[in-house]
Amino acid sequence: MEQSDYLSLLNRAILAIDKNTPEARSKIYDRARHALLNQLESIEPPLSNAAIEKEQRQLEGAIAQLESQQKTGPRPAGKGQTPTQPARSVTSREVFCEHCIAETSDKTPGDVSTINGIGRKFYGSAAPCPECASVIRTLWWTVIEVPVVPLGSYRYKTSQEGVSRARFWCRQLPSRHWQQIWKTWAIGLVAAIAAIIAFYIYNNYQHG
Ligand SMILES: [Zn+2]
Repeated sequence: MEQSDYLSLLNRAILAIDKNTPEARSKIYDRARHALLNQLESIEPPLSNAAIEKEQRQLEGAIAQLESQQKTGPRPAGKGQTPTQPARSVTSREVFCEHCIAETSDKTPGDVSTINGIGRKFYGSAAPCPECASVIRTLWWTVIEVPVVPLGSYRYKTSQEGVSRARFWCRQLPSRHWQQIWKTWAIGLVAAIAAIIAFYIYNNYQHG
């Protein structure tokens, strides 16, 4: 990500806090540093130290820029860019990189929730994007928490705390990610078979 991307992320996080104090801001910066390092270190194949340091420099640059803006106060309106953007919901087009946007559609998955184990749920995590850290997840129709029908595969990103009220963003891929689906199916099937065996053992034990 560029320094400007970090800047807008931090700006939104600062807008979301109740009281904009130096302490509250420094908490946000520390959280951002921690989250960034976590994210960078979890990328496969691993990034070089130089690549990690480059991202960290962009973040530190954004922090320094923000802090100098805080001291001088916001720039007068109408002169160039406004340093802080108005609070608004962040769209998926802003959180995914251009490659991930290009390979997906705006189609939303609709309601993702399960009631008594029946519903729709995301499973799996594949192909993390080196640019925006989104992963491929498949949305399933589930029964008793067992994934039964793969509805579609998505580029998926969890939202960072304080940045947006959305729990996650996702964009649908044109085709299902079958490698992930087979893996999930295998795990789901094993769980279902185990549940059936346990039920029979329990039943025989009760009546035997
Ligand atoms: Zn991406």
